Amino acid sequence: MKKCDVCNIRPAEIYQQHSNRKLCKECFIEDISNRVINEIKKWNMISNNDVIMMALSGGKDGYVMLDVLSRYFSKSNKLIGLNIIEGIHGYNKEEDAKFLVNTAKELGVDVIVTSIKDYVGYNMDEIFLKSRESKNYFTPCTYCGASRRRIMNYYAREMGATKLATAHNLDDEAQTAIINIMKGDINSLLKQHPNAKVADDDMLVKRIKPLRKIYEWETATFSFIKKYHIQQTECPYIELAPTLRAIVRRELYKYEKENPGTLIKFIETLDLILDYIQPNEVTTKLNRCIKCGEPTTLGRNVCKLCELLSNIGIENPNYAIKIPKKVIK
Ligand code: SF4
Ligand code: ZN
Repeated sequence: MKKCDVCNIRPAEIYQQHSNRKLCKECFIEDISNRVINEIKKWNMISNNDVIMMALSGGKDGYVMLDVLSRYFSKSNKLIGLNIIEGIHGYNKEEDAKFLVNTAKELGVDVIVTSIKDYVGYNMDEIFLKSRESKNYFTPCTYCGASRRRIMNYYAREMGATKLATAHNLDDEAQTAIINIMKGDINSLLKQHPNAKVADDDMLVKRIKPLRKIYEWETATFSFIKKYHIQQTECPYIELAPTLRAIVRRELYKYEKENPGTLIKFIETLDLILDYIQPNEVTTKLNRCIKCGEPTTLGRNVCKLCELLSNIGIENPNYAIKIPKKVIK
C-alpha cells in the first residue's frame, strides 16, 4: 500500500483532491487541525482572554470545531458549548444532544442545551403550522434561522462570552457568498469577511467561523475517523428550503470536482476584495426593539424575529414577556 505523502510511514488512506496528496488518518487530522488554527491566527479570531461560546448542532462540522478548539484553546480560554433543539418531529432528537454533551464533557467542555420552544414559546413544528395558517409566510428555515441566531447571541451574551463560534464550513461560505452576489446583498457579503466592520453594539457578541476554509467532505471524514456520533437524520423541512442554494451547491461541486481547490481560491480572493471595500465608519449602537428590547438595525423599531413571528400570529413570544431560563444543563 502506498505510504502517506506527509509522514511517509503510515499507509495513505485519504486522497485530498485540492492538495493532490494521499494522507494517512493521523496526518489528515493534523492537516485539518493546523488549517483551522492558521485561519484563527490569520484573522486574530481568538485572543487569550476571550470566552468562547461554540454553537454545536450535533452535526459533523460542530464536532470538528469542538475537537480542535478544545485541544488548542482549553488552557488559554474558557470554552462553552450551546446546543439548540429546534423541535422538529424526528429530527435533532434528545438522544443526539446527550451524545454531544457527553463527548464535550470528555473534551472538558460544558454544553448548554436549550430549545426554540423554551425561548420563543413554540417549537419549529408549531411555528410551521402557525405560518401555514397565515397568508404571509416564509420557508421554515427563515423562522428557524432567525430564532437560532437570536438564541445563540442571547446565550453567548448571558454567559459572558466575548466570541460566538459557529461551525460554517468552506462549502457553506462559498455558497452563501455566491447567493449574496446573485441577490446583490452587499451588506451580507461584507459581513462574510472575518474582520468585517459590523455594528459594535454591547448587546451583540462578535461571531467567528474557524472552519471557513475546511471542505464539508473533510469535516465528514474527520468526524468519521474520530468516530463521533453525528446526527444522521436530515431535517424534513429541507425540501421546503430555498432552491437557489441547492442549485448553487450543485454547480459549485461540479466545478470543484473538475478544478480541485476552486472553493479555497474563491474564498481567499473574496477576502482580499472585501478587505478593500469595507466601510470606514462603523455603527456603534443599534436600535432596540420596542417589543423585546433586543438590538435591531437602525431605522427599525421592531426586530426581525418579532416581526416574523407577529406576522404569523405569535404576538407574545416567551422572550418578549419573560426572561428565559438562563442555563439548562
Ligand atoms: Fe431549521 Fe431549515 Fe435547518 Fe431544518 S433545514 S434545521 S428548518 S434551518
Ligand atoms: Zn423584538
